[in-house]
Amino acid sequence: MTTPDDDTPKQACPICGKPTAPAYTPFCSKRCADVDLQRWLSGRYAISGREDDALGQDDGTHEE
Ligand SMILES: [Zn+2]
Repeated sequence: MTTPDDDTPKQACPICGKPTAPAYTPFCSKRCADVDLQRWLSGRYAISGREDDALGQDDGTHEE
């Protein structure tokens, strides 16, 4: 550890690419952390909707 401050590669915020802030790791700010949270919630909603759609497809396998 000769130059810990200069040689250490700083992680970039996955949302905007800015250097991350220790208080909001791995994001650069509360705003970007909130953006990621909304994306995560949107993903859950999308998965939940797909499961519901799969049930409808299963119903179409019946024969007459
Ligand atoms: Zn950011």
